[in-house]
Amino acid sequence: MRRRTEPAVAASGRWIDEDGVRAPGGSVHAWRPGTNQTLCGVPLHKAGLQRFPHVLWIDARWLAETTEERIVLCHRCAAAAGDRPGRRWTRVHPRP
Ligand SMILES: [Zn+2]
Repeated sequence: MRRRTEPAVAASGRWIDEDGVRAPGGSVHAWRPGTNQTLCGVPLHKAGLQRFPHVLWIDARWLAETTEERIVLCHRCAAAAGDRPGRRWTRVHPRP
């Protein structure tokens, strides 16, 4: 159960993670399922962005910090998603 509505992501690229799950790569934007544009207002089809309804924005943030893949998070979406500079996510991810 999600305690609040977290945005998912849309991205310009993709890669397959070690579990065989499609993961966002390249330019990554926050996106709410059911809409056809990113949180920062970019139309998905015009920008050629793929939808990743199974990947939450906060997970993409974590991926960007932990993976070797090139992931560039959109700072305008970060602001729109309520991120604050210097704020650390308290969510705990198990690491190998
Ligand atoms: Zn964006």
